[in-house]
Amino acid sequence: MDDILPEEIPLHRSLVETVRLLFRLYGYREVETPPVEYYELFAVKSGQEILSHMYVFEDVHGRRLVLRPEMTAPIARLVAGKLSRSPRPIRLGYVADCYRLDEPQWGRRRRFYHGGFEIFGSKEPAADAECMVIFDDFLRRVGIRDYYFKVGHVGVHRAIMSAAGIEDDDQDTILGLLDRGRVEEAEESVRKLAKDREAATLFKEVAAHPAGPAIETIDELMAKLSKAERACKELENLRKIVKLASQVVEPARIIYYPGFARGLSYYTGFIFEVFGQGAEIALGGGGRYDGLVSLIGGPETPGVGFAIGLTRIMQYLTDRLMVKPQPDSPLALVAPLAEESIEFAFRAAHEFRRAGVPTELEMAAYSPSEAIRRAERRGARFLVLIGRREVESKTVSVRDLEGRFQEEWRVEEIYERAESLLGRTRVGS
Ligand code: AMP
Repeated sequence: MDDILPEEIPLHRSLVETVRLLFRLYGYREVETPPVEYYELFAVKSGQEILSHMYVFEDVHGRRLVLRPEMTAPIARLVAGKLSRSPRPIRLGYVADCYRLDEPQWGRRRRFYHGGFEIFGSKEPAADAECMVIFDDFLRRVGIRDYYFKVGHVGVHRAIMSAAGIEDDDQDTILGLLDRGRVEEAEESVRKLAKDREAATLFKEVAAHPAGPAIETIDELMAKLSKAERACKELENLRKIVKLASQVVEPARIIYYPGFARGLSYYTGFIFEVFGQGAEIALGGGGRYDGLVSLIGGPETPGVGFAIGLTRIMQYLTDRLMVKPQPDSPLALVAPLAEESIEFAFRAAHEFRRAGVPTELEMAAYSPSEAIRRAERRGARFLVLIGRREVESKTVSVRDLEGRFQEEWRVEEIYERAESLLGRTRVGS
């Protein structure tokens, strides 16, 4: 499982901060849940794909537990329980590590972060569209420019199957096949289970329809399916979602894939994934899951949401050298030049921190040239040298390593003057 190392932390943190900024901007309340859940929470509806990749174990009392593979089910658990009385709609957000027993490879780790947004209590297309808009906003803010939305609607497939009398569980299995690209097997199952022959033809018609710009493709398919009233209603819903999202997201970025299904079997309607240029796996995705809350014991509550794959996006950004991994560096390094100046240096360093300047302290004395080398290696911008002379005069000598100045400050001045260092460079960047 992944650890996050010092040079990876700044990028990880900035992605998390962007997610949190979006919580504020769009009105999502952040929640946290434990990484361990009961097995049953995911067994009910997560789908075969997820179930076969879960870490499952027993506690000492023999209870079957899992490390959460995703966050929608835990959030739905809150909405079914502790938050069941909160006024609807309720928008919830999370940043959480999830665990899947995947073979580690590009973009696939056994421990990875999801930044997620879920809206409960609204069936309106505006809720679905908001998901796309937030994802779009996120990508722009982190500097990803080449991306597109792959959208779909499992409501269309479900409508065709329901009309032919195919049970929900069988529908889930068939959509699972579709998701794994086993289109012919999916069609074969529909043919076997459907009460009328028409259904298999319609199902195939949808699954085989070529992907294209969303609105045009939806309209083409609606013309084709004109007799399948319920399927057309679902397509109309998708059309509204895309129209709304297109008020903000560039329409050319939204591509409708009629044969698209997602691995989680709780999806009931709109679904989407986001792909970056040259990335074959999704940077994130989500969809509508109207039955999930009631399924785990809560009141009937529609829901829609998505997760941003923060770990995968981090890898995407570093691989394309949009960002260079770098650990946080101190802004200043305080270096005693003699054994006798360590005490004074210890106190002076504290004055810098009181002023808000990230300051590291050398714990032993070095020569001035060695102190400079060490400061540069740490990425410090300012070096504060304290020798015997400084101790006597109760001063510190502050040197800008980019060569702009070298000044003597009295110790009582540090607090006031240190603030000016902050303005000269961005902290933590
Ligand atoms: P899913 O819940 O499978 O739809 O995943 C949503 C997003 O989480 C994906 O699009 C990825 O960006 C990310 N993700 C899923 N599985 C992994 C993994 N094993 N490692 C890293 N990121 C993942």
